[in-house]
Amino acid sequence: MIVAADIIAYMEELFPQSLAEEWDNVGLQVGSASSPCRTVMTCLTVTEAAAEYAAETSVDLIISHHPLIFAPLKRVTLDNSVGRIIYSLVTHRISLFVGHTNIDRAEGGLNDWLAESLHLLDVGVLEPELDESGYGRIGRLQSKMTLASLAKYVGEVLGIQGVRIVGPNDRLVQAVAVCSGSGSHLWPAALAQGADVLITGDVKYHTALDVSSTSLAMIDAGHFGTEAVFASRLADLLEEEGKRRQWPLRVIAYEAETDPMAAV
Ligand SMILES: [Zn+2]
Repeated sequence: MIVAADIIAYMEELFPQSLAEEWDNVGLQVGSASSPCRTVMTCLTVTEAAAEYAAETSVDLIISHHPLIFAPLKRVTLDNSVGRIIYSLVTHRISLFVGHTNIDRAEGGLNDWLAESLHLLDVGVLEPELDESGYGRIGRLQSKMTLASLAKYVGEVLGIQGVRIVGPNDRLVQAVAVCSGSGSHLWPAALAQGADVLITGDVKYHTALDVSSTSLAMIDAGHFGTEAVFASRLADLLEEEGKRRQWPLRVIAYEAETDPMAAV
């Protein structure tokens, strides 16, 4: 039998918590590292539906990308969603571990998974830091394509609707920068590194306006859309490592997550 700490140690090897932003809140948020772990579930966000599914499926440990506990908590009651989720996790003896900006930044983390999903070639870090880590990635498409056709491709690959673009439909693009989640503030870095287009989520009107007067194009594939690969890719890693170490471990990727902002 393994315990949560065994999986947490592996997560730390891949995505050191020292890479997380100071304002972030990562690591073990609910439960105990010494509790037995037979089943681990990965998800992007611990919603009430995700917590309910975890309880029904006898999950021992949830690993999520978004912190459940972020703003200071004054109480854990059933009057709000965070309180209900914590209450449910504790009741069902489910621990919660969070890897957020450390997984965004780490080599082999979420931004690499996003770049791989889009089949980018020669991928490097968009905003390099001292080590191999940093926000965003930049690579190139095998051949040039129009901005409109790239946007369509992004929608298909990431399985999302309502992809929006900044720039002319017919502009040819090949050098592609990506940043999962909210990465539109990286547009000057994308431009400086010679990207033709930046694919990210949460693009604001005034950012779009600023970018539209440059040679850079932008694709807003949504915060959810650019991070949706999280659960399955992390589950794959845990599954492989579990097999390698012969852990008696069941790994589940929570598949029922949807974008709370729907396209109509
Ligand atoms: Zn996010």
